[in-house]
Formats: sequence, C-alpha cells, structure tokens
Amino acid sequence: MAIAYFYFHAELNYFLPRHHQQVRISHFFEEKASIKDMIESLGVPHPEVDFINVNGEYVNFYYIVSDGDTINVYPISARGSIIPSISVRPEPLSIIRFVLDIHLGKLATSLRLLGFDTLYRNDYEDEKLAQISSSQARILLTRDKGLLMRSLVTHGYYVRNTNPQQQIIEVLQRFDLFKLISPFKRCLRCNGLLEPVDKQSIVDKIPENVRSQIDEFRRCQDCDRIYWKGSHYERLQQFIDGVLNSQKGE
Ligand SMILES: [Zn+2]
Repeated sequence: MAIAYFYFHAELNYFLPRHHQQVRISHFFEEKASIKDMIESLGVPHPEVDFINVNGEYVNFYYIVSDGDTINVYPISARGSIIPSISVRPEPLSIIRFVLDIHLGKLATSLRLLGFDTLYRNDYEDEKLAQISSSQARILLTRDKGLLMRSLVTHGYYVRNTNPQQQIIEVLQRFDLFKLISPFKRCLRCNGLLEPVDKQSIVDKIPENVRSQIDEFRRCQDCDRIYWKGSHYERLQQFIDGVLNSQKGE
C-alpha cells in the first residue's frame, strides 16, 4: 500500500468532508493514478483547481502520484490572474457565456436580465450539459459536483449559494462581470437578443391598457416575445440596482 499526503488550500476545503478540512490528508492507494483522478476521488472537482505542487515542483493534471508524495492543491481565487507556467487551468474564454444545470433556473433568468448569454433548459441531461459546455466554450455553472468532474468540462464552477439573490452576486464576483452588465437586451424566456419593434406592427399582441400608455417595445429575435417597460419593469430595475450596489459594498 502506498501513501500520499494532500493539503487542500483555502476554498477547496469547501468540497471536503469535515474530517478532511484544513488538515493533512493521508491518502492510501494501491493502483497508480493521475493526480487529477486522486484529487477528484477526495471530492474536489478539477475545474476548481488552479495549481498543484508535488514535493516542491508544480505539476499538471497528468502527473502520476508516487508513494510518499506531499501534494499541495490550490484553488482558483476570484479575479486571480493565471500564471501560465504553473497553472493547470485552461486558457480563459475570450467571450463569457454560460450553460446552467437544472437547479439554477432563477440564476439563468438573472444572468439573462443582466445581458449574459445563458443557456438553460430544465430537460438537459448531464451528458448534454458537459457537451454544450465543451463544444460551445460555455462556462458550466452547476450545483452538481459529479457533473463538474466530467472530463469534458474544462470551464466550470460550483455555485456555493442556494439563494438565487446571493447566487447572482457570487457568479458576478467570481468571474469579475460587473463591468460587463448590460441589462434588458436579452429575452428572459429563451436567451434571444431583443430588437426595437414598431408599435403598429405588434399592436394586436399587447394588452389594451398597455397600448394607450406605452410607445416603446422590443421583440425577441428568436421567440417573438414582446417586452415593454410595464409594471414589472420597476421591480427588475430594483433588482439590478441591488446587484450593482452589492459591488460597491464589497
Ligand atoms: Zn425569446
């Protein structure tokens, strides 16, 4: 039986069982395995890892663990820049886009409201989510650790908060997105982009009381849903103000 000693740093302790948190973990093993597999067998999904040090040297995910190794594993910290020579992270995506798992419907709506390209359906299977994330270069946001451990997933993040209000703040902070917020440009229902539309051309699709009060309308390019600044608008604006204020309060 061989043994390796693991230290998981900072936030990575979040993924460990209580008795493994903030301590040296003695991990016994018989089969040879990559360090990536061993880290995940202890509970930490690989997309959360930034760099790994073994006996004083930085290694990549393919390193095969040897008997007696001392292993330090470090998390991706919010807004931390990549140090390419030692990071196991893939290149950051040039365009920030998301795909969300079934647990994150409200977060999906909030991201769309703030203008972020966000795929979400309540019938995506895990395999499909991993495929979309990989083939379309979308960050996978999930509440499912097993999904994040799939090898196809390179850009992913486990959303810690369960409260949707806190989730949106968490994601904006984690990916440093406050400056990219561009509200009211996407369809909340389907993620399509909105375009201005002539009132006359859609007058039969809007309620009578709206016809007399509102003159500006936008339409989803994908599903044709019509948007206007109605009674719900103020509530949405309050939500956006709350999000922006949270940044100032950081
Ligand atoms: Zn739409």
